[in-house]
Amino acid sequence: MTVRLYNTRTRQKEPFTPLAPPMVTLYTCGPTVYRYAHLGNMRTFLMADLLRRTLAYNGYEVRHVKNITDVGHMQDDTFDRGEDKMLLSAAAEGKSPQEIAAYYTDAFRRDEARLHILPAQVFPRASEHIPEMLTIVRRLMDRGYAYQSGDNVYFDVGRFPAYGRLSGNRREHLRAGIHRVELDPNKRNPEDFTLWKGAGPHRTMFWESPWGPGYPGWHIECSAMSMKHLGAQLDLHTGGVDNLFPHHESEIAQSEAATGLPFVRSWLHGEHLMFAGTRMAKSAGNYYTLSDLRARGYDPLGFRYLCLTAHYRSKLNFTWASLTAAQLAYLRLRDAVAHLAGSDPPDPAAWSEGAMALEARFRNAINDDLHLPTALAVVWEVLRGGLPRAEKYALLLAFDRVLGLGLDRVAPAVLPPAVAALLEEREALRRGRCYQEADARRDQVRAAGWEVSDTRQGTQVSPRSRFTPTLVRVSPRHGRPPRIITGARDVPSRLAEPDRCEFSVNLVVSGWLEDVQRCLTSVVRWAGERRVEVVVVQNDADAATAQWLEQAAADDPRLRVLHTTHHLGEGEARNAGLRDSTGTIVLLLDTSAEVTGDIYGPLWAALPAPAVGLVGPRGVRSVDEHLHHFTDHPGPEVDAVLGYCMAFRRAALRRVGLMDERFRFYRNLDLDFSFAFRDQGYRTLALPDLPVVFHEHRGWTSLDPTERDKLSRRNYYRFAKKWGERRDLLVGSHRADQHDGADHDHGHPHDAHDHPERPR
Ligand code: AMP
Ligand code: ZN
Repeated sequence: MTVRLYNTRTRQKEPFTPLAPPMVTLYTCGPTVYRYAHLGNMRTFLMADLLRRTLAYNGYEVRHVKNITDVGHMQDDTFDRGEDKMLLSAAAEGKSPQEIAAYYTDAFRRDEARLHILPAQVFPRASEHIPEMLTIVRRLMDRGYAYQSGDNVYFDVGRFPAYGRLSGNRREHLRAGIHRVELDPNKRNPEDFTLWKGAGPHRTMFWESPWGPGYPGWHIECSAMSMKHLGAQLDLHTGGVDNLFPHHESEIAQSEAATGLPFVRSWLHGEHLMFAGTRMAKSAGNYYTLSDLRARGYDPLGFRYLCLTAHYRSKLNFTWASLTAAQLAYLRLRDAVAHLAGSDPPDPAAWSEGAMALEARFRNAINDDLHLPTALAVVWEVLRGGLPRAEKYALLLAFDRVLGLGLDRVAPAVLPPAVAALLEEREALRRGRCYQEADARRDQVRAAGWEVSDTRQGTQVSPRSRFTPTLVRVSPRHGRPPRIITGARDVPSRLAEPDRCEFSVNLVVSGWLEDVQRCLTSVVRWAGERRVEVVVVQNDADAATAQWLEQAAADDPRLRVLHTTHHLGEGEARNAGLRDSTGTIVLLLDTSAEVTGDIYGPLWAALPAPAVGLVGPRGVRSVDEHLHHFTDHPGPEVDAVLGYCMAFRRAALRRVGLMDERFRFYRNLDLDFSFAFRDQGYRTLALPDLPVVFHEHRGWTSLDPTERDKLSRRNYYRFAKKWGERRDLLVGSHRADQHDGADHDHGHPHDAHDHPERPR
């Protein structure tokens, strides 16, 4: 059977034919080792692993080389500009470039092993292949493809007409792009790329060369290492789509100009892993590493499973919810295999027709340009189908040679004698129609980690994997497992339920344990005899804080904690708490707040008035008619109540709705929520005498200034877009005299100190 692969060079799926079967040479552009690889990088290395395993499944012998880039990768890949990433990182960490490279190479190899990525046979280091690179540069000079200019040697793109064919970047097009940035005066043509760069007086890592001391360009390393370890012509070359240009384009030019031979038969490029709408990238700061997943309790193979659910040429959007779903599916798969393990897998020669048909479908899927999502579907079909256990097991073990999910290491599910005894008791009780007691036995069996299902064939038991992300760090203190949510939607809404107490105090906790303790203690102290519940959303706080909250909830039944699997945006985190609240009045507090007296009495007095929607100690009014600037106002009528402390009747949410989850940061979320109240005709009032004080707001002060600026700005524009034209909602807009007063009363609205939280 043939393997069909999409070849970027020819832009079509074509039958794969190696130069010298059954040998296949495979080169993968490897990691730059100045930092941890992120999940996006790992997705691309997983793709190469799936390619290799698919070829092996088809009987090929794959020789796999993956380079380690430990020199020459510049900050700006496209134009060889800026500084060498390795050296920058070495300087930042106070280590030598060699130490940095060794440390991150080890980390990378460990991550690959955790993901069951088969190690390449050779991991050549760029820094150890300088002579090979110089040989190619020399040859390119001799053949007239390269020229020296200043201290540098460049590849003359004009001499290689095929340049641009792989990526579809035509030269004229390239030029247009390059003209916008500053030109390198040494280059003959702006699109020429560097083969060798003069070291300059300050560089620490350099080598001697016929053109003076210097270091190689990034692209030349892959030509040198692939040809050295795999020969002048390769069957396969892989990388992420961002490697297409200029890296792979330049590799082709250098290699083919030097040897006169076609360089690579098939190019495979993996699409990106995305996060929050953009490519996961170190430079964008929107990345996670495998260690981040492990710290949150995820199995690296859960991430491998997630990658199998998308085709490698499609973008894959990483979300914690999708990772959680993948992790759960992976555990279900393991549980199912545990049930089959222990049976003696028959030899493929003895497989039934049914088994052979399923195997053929699996093979077809992977041989169709590595279509793993379809292959996974076949896996589940095997499990659901009616084949004998031993045959199912044999198929899954065979498939796992490609899937790499470690199914061969799943231990058989052996029922412990104590559990078996419980099950027997349950059976007897059921026969005697003592259902309640039978159910109690079933719960005991479940508590021991076994799932019980009653089918027509009788009672079946299978091991039950429990998955608690994050909460590996939070052990339950009160018998009940901690409540874990992946988003607000995981919290069943209790909004339609009748009131169960007078007040629901809502807190969102993202760390700063001392603040949380101060706030929570004050909330409880002043509650007195009132019926108060406290709903805390533990939103990706540190382990100590999460643990303390669990303990506090164990000690005080009024307190409930919802733990998130990952950081939720502020609007969504607030909504998680709101959905769980059952009080007549909801009081939202920031953990920087401290209650200093009976806050409940005045709120109870203020909120029954049906026209009053939202109250809090601090309010603001707009100083301009476009709702761009707001300033503190003593009230009582204000345009908005600040979110550090706000209260409303829970029933009002039925009209106003929950918070707008597009507000991922707290700033302007309160304005938005206030305007939603006003839009429904409610008044929003400042009650400055409420007994509450505000301490340093660490959610703000601990943020990096550029980061908080970015977050604030995003919300600010979101708010302006949504409400900017609604001056009709401003206080006094119905009464012309007052409206003018609000803006111009004091003569200089712009002297008014801007509310400290509004970006200017
Ligand atoms: P680097 O260590 O930066 O050279 O990247 C190693 C590999 O990861 C390259 O093949 C890149 O194309 C690939 N890569 C980088 N970012 C992503 C991403 N977000 N998704 C998938 N692959 C990526
Ligand atoms: Zn490369």
